[in-house]
Amino acid sequence: MPRFIPIAALALALAGASVAAPAALPAGSTAAVAGEVSPAALPQAASGALAIERTGLAAEASTAVTGSIAAKYQTKVGTRLYSSASGTQKLASVPADYTVSTRTDKKSSNGTRVQVQYQSKTGWITLSKVSKVPLSTPLGKLSWKASASKNIARWCAGVPIDTSVDYMNQATASVSTSNGRRTVAEKIHLSTKTPWGTALDPNHPLAVSIQYHECGHIMQYRAYNYDFAALKRAMDKVYGASGNTAGGVEHMADCIAEALGAKRRGTETLSNGSTRTWVSGYGGTCTSTHLAAAKKIIAGDRV
Ligand SMILES: [Zn+2]
Repeated sequence: MPRFIPIAALALALAGASVAAPAALPAGSTAAVAGEVSPAALPQAASGALAIERTGLAAEASTAVTGSIAAKYQTKVGTRLYSSASGTQKLASVPADYTVSTRTDKKSSNGTRVQVQYQSKTGWITLSKVSKVPLSTPLGKLSWKASASKNIARWCAGVPIDTSVDYMNQATASVSTSNGRRTVAEKIHLSTKTPWGTALDPNHPLAVSIQYHECGHIMQYRAYNYDFAALKRAMDKVYGASGNTAGGVEHMADCIAEALGAKRRGTETLSNGSTRTWVSGYGGTCTSTHLAAAKKIIAGDRV
């Protein structure tokens, strides 16, 4: 009968974004360390839980592939479907993370476009704006979760993602051992809504910044081999003691996000013409020292 003895479990929550203008959520107000997960909350078979997550992701992708499809391409960003191989006439706008097929895989004479079918239209898209994907990839738009997963795949591939609309963003890791064998369960939870209640596109700069921040926590956990106390000491030391809006772990997750290219502040123009300013994370400034430390964590090293 295997027994799982928790070594440590920690959940870190991110304020994620705060609304600057109406001040509904002050910056960094919900910085929280959720603390120990009770032993009962640890799954009896963490690997089983992970497998379910992965199956869930795979299950979203089940579309039959016909023999006549020669190749499939997935947009990296929103892009135009042109009516011809070289002209500028637009047939449609193809959203980001959208998989299209081609029966011809015909390239333009200068090699910059490929002929594809998008919904009922046949046209041409720019090759630099798409990636060739396996034929087993389902046609159409990726799910929110799959887009987020894709955005962080370079650093956090395979980490299960949960989504909800309750504006909770966090990354958790729990460690258990049985007969000297350690099991680690990592998870990222993301909100599909903004703090002001509207739908958040998974590729919006705010969403990407939050995804990077949470993936940054996973990288922190890994660099410190899930020794959360050692991680906290190290991050607080890098961040310093005075004038801080969040603890070192949170601020450094912001700096990791920044080092990965996240935009941490932005302004939206709303449909009524007014503007809204958002801040992702805790709003502190990442100094060159902080960013140098962030890059070490990204490389898998301790600071
Ligand atoms: Zn955080």
